[in-house]
Amino acid sequence: MKNEKYAICNECGSKFLKSSSAMESLCPECASIIYGYPNCNHIFKNGRCIHCYWDGSRSDYIKHCLNINNKEKNNVDK
Ligand SMILES: [Zn+2]
Ligand SMILES: [Zn+2]
Repeated sequence: MKNEKYAICNECGSKFLKSSSAMESLCPECASIIYGYPNCNHIFKNGRCIHCYWDGSRSDYIKHCLNINNKEKNNVDK
C-alpha cells in the first residue's frame, strides 16, 4: 500500500504535505491565493516550509494574482 503523504501542487509544481492543505491538488499557498483557503504560516528551513513542505515556488499565474491583489490594495489606500 502506498502512503501518499505528499503531493505535487498543480499550480506551482512544489511538493507539499497533503494534510496541510485544504485541497488535494494545490499547496496551501496556491489554494489560499486562488480560492481563499487559509494559508499555512510558512516557516522555512533548508528551503522548505516545515509545516506544509512548500518550497516557495510561484507560478506565473500566482504572481499575476498577487500583483492584482497588491494593485487593488494600493487603489483602496488612495
Ligand atoms: Zn502551489
Ligand atoms: Zn507552509
